[in-house]
Amino acid sequence: MRIDVFPNNPLFKKWIMRAVKKLPLDVQHWVDYNVLFVVAIPFGSALRLNNKYAIILHPSIFLYKDCDGVIAHEVAHIWLGRKRKCLVSEKRADQLVKTWGFGELRPNANYEEIAEMDKILGAD
Ligand SMILES: [Zn+2]
Repeated sequence: MRIDVFPNNPLFKKWIMRAVKKLPLDVQHWVDYNVLFVVAIPFGSALRLNNKYAIILHPSIFLYKDCDGVIAHEVAHIWLGRKRKCLVSEKRADQLVKTWGFGELRPNANYEEIAEMDKILGAD
């Protein structure tokens, strides 16, 4: 399987491959030759724009039960990093959100992989 992924990155490939391999074989084969996977819009991300902190949210998050937690997580990035004017790590943001009373957003998070993804997307 060669699975076409944009941006062409081994980590995205690995995650997408993991899902595709669970599909029925005929579907896998078809996907392999006919589908381009595009990883483009972060679920949620925080950055600085025009002297303000901007929280960018993918519209699909509003369909999820954990939507409030995602928004709180992005606020946590900003809240913790506001003195240094830069964002803090995923782990610290997730920990703070828990103390704010939100459920565990990513119980099985691999923070090294998340950091790698943020680097690729230029997000935090
Ligand atoms: Zn984050």
